[in-house]
Amino acid sequence: MAESQAIVRLIEALSHLPGVGPKSARRMTYFLLERDREGARDISVAITEAIEKVGHCQQCNNLTEYDHCEICSSKSRDNKKLCIVETPAELQSIEQAGIFRGLYFVLMGHLSPLDGIGPEELGIDKLEVLLDTGEVTEVVLATNLTVEGEATAHYINELVRKKGILATRIAHGVPVGGELEYIDRSTLTEAFTGRRQM
Ligand code: ZN
Repeated sequence: MAESQAIVRLIEALSHLPGVGPKSARRMTYFLLERDREGARDISVAITEAIEKVGHCQQCNNLTEYDHCEICSSKSRDNKKLCIVETPAELQSIEQAGIFRGLYFVLMGHLSPLDGIGPEELGIDKLEVLLDTGEVTEVVLATNLTVEGEATAHYINELVRKKGILATRIAHGVPVGGELEYIDRSTLTEAFTGRRQM
């Protein structure tokens, strides 16, 4: 028997989630409709609210409900250190590990010439504005240990060095191909404390 249009739409919508295929999306859909309609309403309200309220920090691109995120507007952060990450989720992993007290810049991706993603798409000009304030003395390159992440780190390293600023790269303990978002806290801590000049 054919499923109702609304059910099909919900299954398709849930399939957008990472790691969720059509089969689990269908299971979730039936679970929500049969057993947890209140939970389903909460999810719907929370998603709508987050989409309407959450944007990007004007300074670092982190996700925030304000013009500037909590980190950029904090007075207690070390503004001499700037950590470069690929995504807001990775920034959050580093924050949760409590291993870095400086500021961040989120690239919102990595260099990928084949996909048409160059320095302009990553907002490198915005990063340069931050570096040119003269506050930053160390840039910590915490892009992923993937081919694209390494290429991106090398590109930014060149740029940073030309400005006479120290660039360091995390590496120690992080497996090659590793994405920081999924790395455990102790490995991440090791990677930060063991960072080396590029
Ligand atoms: Zn920010």
